[in-house]
Amino acid sequence: MKNNVLITGGAGFIGSNLVLRLLDLGCSVTVLDNLSPQIHGADPESSPLYMAIKDKVTFVKGDVENESDWQKALVGVDSVIHLAAETGTGQSMYQIKRYSDVNVGGSSIFLDFLANNPHGVSKMIIASSRSIYGEGKYHCFEHGEVYPVERNDEMLEKGDFEVKCPICQSNVKLLATDEKSKIHPSSIYGVTKQVQEQMFMITGKSLGIPTVSLRFQNVYGAGQSLSNPYTGILSIFSTRILNGNDINIFEDGLESRDFVYIDDVVESIVLSLFNKEADYQIFNVGSGVATDVMTVAATLKSIYKSNSSISVSGNYRVGDIRHNFADLSLINSKISFAAKIDFDAGMKLFTDWVAKQSVKEDLYEKSILELKSKGLYK
Ligand code: NAD
Repeated sequence: MKNNVLITGGAGFIGSNLVLRLLDLGCSVTVLDNLSPQIHGADPESSPLYMAIKDKVTFVKGDVENESDWQKALVGVDSVIHLAAETGTGQSMYQIKRYSDVNVGGSSIFLDFLANNPHGVSKMIIASSRSIYGEGKYHCFEHGEVYPVERNDEMLEKGDFEVKCPICQSNVKLLATDEKSKIHPSSIYGVTKQVQEQMFMITGKSLGIPTVSLRFQNVYGAGQSLSNPYTGILSIFSTRILNGNDINIFEDGLESRDFVYIDDVVESIVLSLFNKEADYQIFNVGSGVATDVMTVAATLKSIYKSNSSISVSGNYRVGDIRHNFADLSLINSKISFAAKIDFDAGMKLFTDWVAKQSVKEDLYEKSILELKSKGLYK
């Protein structure tokens, strides 16, 4: 039984939910988190996520880029769940150094510390991401299983949004992406998650520390930042609607993602932590269902009984993928994980939670202006 768990980024969305679940299971929890204002707002010490956990854990306010903060946080710890990261796909395309420093640099400082110092760590879990797949797996009637490359401006400007067979350019059918699918990220964020995962898996093996990588799909639910305009379309749409603003959907609205509810994600981490069958494995974590973005926006508009209009403008972001959903056979066979909360139930839980929060300032247009000024929104 792993009892003394360090969760980096434990004040964030996934982390704070995980903290409460591990405490329920009788673990002692240490959190290392810098309370980043992008997630926790201008007065991070009073953010609801931090308030919900701060008296229940050993809280180390610190940065994963500082070895001394890791050292403080690792005292008495037997397991590390590394969640702290910069997480915005679009933002990563113009804050390349920051994303690399935090995600890759932070991981390297920790792993280097383990390799060169006495420590008690006997299990590690790294939060990876579906973004490492870029465009996932597809079927071409002529060429079988294929991995489409990033779409080019010429296609996207014409409104031709669907990916094509990389060999014959014909239309292809979306398949569930499994863990053996090609890794070819199309964003800097995706590159940093790929490198983080590889660094953890390689170092875990070389030091004999059982390590698990979890490739999360799009996680949503209670605790998601409602003020961060850089990531999380459910919260971005919710904040726009609740401010009375209209929603402009990228591309044609038919791009899809695999939305997985936070409770299912927390369960996947708990199963991976306590189950030896998970050791040295890399798992997809998702719902296994693709849902298009138009459906997400329309469902939120209907639940909030909003008059906001929803339009599709044909605009697109450089680095975005068209579709992705997870094949969950491996995690199901090894540790019996299956998502329990479907899209309708999850949307109800999420919007019930949003209704209890204060309405946040809508910073979305500012984030789009940033992307435009860098030539990353067209
Ligand atoms: P989040 O932004 O809600 O939480 C991240 C936490 O890390 C925040 O509390 C932040 O203050 C902290 N943090 C950021 N930079 C830090 C630093 N330099 N030092 C210390 N703490 C720092 O993110 P989340 O949604 O909970 O995601 C957690 C992990 O899961 C991340 O690694 C992310 O890449 C991965 N992931 C998330 C999703 C998703 O849909 N939420 C999908 C795929 C992968």
